[in-house]
Amino acid sequence: MKHKLLSILAISLSLLACNSDKNVKSMSEETKVTIAPISSEDPHSYAKPNDVVVKHLDWTANVDFDSSRISATARWTIENKTGAKEVYFDTRGLLIDYVTIGNNDEFTTFRLEPEVMYVGQKLIVDITPKTDVVRIYYRTTEKSDALQWLTKEQTADKTHPFLFTQSQAILARTWIPCQDSPGIRFTYNARVKVPNSMMALMSAYNPTDTMPNGTYDFQMEYPIPSYLLALSVGNIQYQSVGRNTGIYAEPSMLAKSVAEFEDMQEMVDSAEALYGAYRWGNYDVLVLPPSFPFGGMENPRLTFATPTILAGDKSLTSLIAHELAHSWSGNLVTNYNWNDFWLNEGFTVYFENRIMEQVYGADYANMLALISYQDLQAELDDFGMESPKTKLKLDLAGQDPDEGMTSIAYDKGFYFLKLIEYTVGRENFDQFLKTYFNTYAFKSMTTEGFVDYINAELLSKNEEWASAINLDEWIYSPGLPANCPKIQSDRFEKVEGELQKWKKGSAASSLASANWSTHEWLHFLRNLPSKMSMEQMEELDKAFGFIKSGNSEILAAWFVKVIPNNYKVAKPAINDFLVKIGRRKFLTPIYKALIAADPSKITARGIYEKARPNYHAVAQQTMDDLLDWNKN
Ligand SMILES: [Zn+2]
Repeated sequence: MKHKLLSILAISLSLLACNSDKNVKSMSEETKVTIAPISSEDPHSYAKPNDVVVKHLDWTANVDFDSSRISATARWTIENKTGAKEVYFDTRGLLIDYVTIGNNDEFTTFRLEPEVMYVGQKLIVDITPKTDVVRIYYRTTEKSDALQWLTKEQTADKTHPFLFTQSQAILARTWIPCQDSPGIRFTYNARVKVPNSMMALMSAYNPTDTMPNGTYDFQMEYPIPSYLLALSVGNIQYQSVGRNTGIYAEPSMLAKSVAEFEDMQEMVDSAEALYGAYRWGNYDVLVLPPSFPFGGMENPRLTFATPTILAGDKSLTSLIAHELAHSWSGNLVTNYNWNDFWLNEGFTVYFENRIMEQVYGADYANMLALISYQDLQAELDDFGMESPKTKLKLDLAGQDPDEGMTSIAYDKGFYFLKLIEYTVGRENFDQFLKTYFNTYAFKSMTTEGFVDYINAELLSKNEEWASAINLDEWIYSPGLPANCPKIQSDRFEKVEGELQKWKKGSAASSLASANWSTHEWLHFLRNLPSKMSMEQMEELDKAFGFIKSGNSEILAAWFVKVIPNNYKVAKPAINDFLVKIGRRKFLTPIYKALIAADPSKITARGIYEKARPNYHAVAQQTMDDLLDWNKN
């Protein structure tokens, strides 16, 4: 968030998440490196899919925990459209041993170009106009940033090590050489060997039992983009929770996870009723160890989720609705490149909100919508209303596409779609969305393509609609248009009433908070005064037990409020939280608050030194920038 270190809403409290969580950092100016776009198609990929494009992957891999390395062969079936003599792949942090072409595995020559920041190395493989198969033999390295190798002590059960991947946005290339652009889709099969007694899972048809010999076969017969490639290996068990829904987790986490997500089948059924069939077969969730850097990642058939949504009362399961919604918006109809990211996330937040309304009622959905609005306002304040970062259509050439994962794509996108719904009527909009998902299933969509489509299929039906909405202003202009819908929440108004009573001297214990959900508590915490006395903080803690809360959202929001007020009682809890949990959405605002309270950064860096080994590379990168970690 630029150089404003602590805004009132420094914590991005949105429960709307996906690869999820918006990135609440902004990279400091000095670390930005400008590079020219490397492709007119996708500024973050070397692939030239109009010449040679991949169609199918056969991946054979051996996962070795002792050396923290995957040794693998990526056998790509390609289509050579122009008779080209070279094919280009994206790679980063890989050791390429050799490359062959054709069904007879004939050696061919290849070159790796010098590393370019963020995008990695271009792998050029020599082919013939008739080549239809390319096999790349390679190994991952410690620079394979998608992979997080956890020791057994870093897991819940502490019996086995654990591995998971996070490919979005452009990290698939760090564990599989690929054409790493969301505009390119392929099917895949995989055979993965892992240590005996461990389970392997992918974004594919998955086992429900551990294979004694540690060998697993996977199949994803629907074409997916590379950022949805996913792998996890650990001591994992499965339990079904419905007709086509189930949970994977470490044994000690399974019962708790099953109880928390018992509404999953109802969510899937609601989503299907809204926008048509779920196309992927089963919908399962894998609950990961706490270092997972995001809230969730919508890997097809198998959402990866943080354990920080296990609140014990189902209050944070909108994240599951979000990842599920991606099965339509994102996984089925995919943003063409990362400049069109709002097409994935804005639609998903909208869809998530509709699922939550269906399952838990309009009151509940309105609270989520208002939290989304608060996040959006905080982001707009932070970037400034004129900043190009506040446009829905982005220009991320030369930047890490992670920079585009802000509240703008999620929450401005959501309010834009809400405005369309209000303008054309819910029935018309639902019909339009259903047709949109069907028409473009398993395809990618550009922002411009979407504008043409909605103009032709929806807005042309009533000449007043287009001018009432003003698509161009919403998509291509910065800031927030004046016609942004306003959403009211009665439940939040009640919270504000109680907070006023406390501010005017009523005892915290006398507030009518008995039935508050996590969202109401977050609204309460967010609106606490920025300056509080020791007595006030102690009173709140005594009345509501924030510091002892098992709810990560509440804990993080409380820490952000009390750090600037030097609430020493919280120090051990803050320390434990930062060492244990690696979800970036929580880390960023807490570290920012620590820095604001101690601008020398000594306090924050002291904790980070212990915590950093527990974080995934995605979170490390953000925190390294925030804490100047690599500078001295
Ligand atoms: Zn998402």
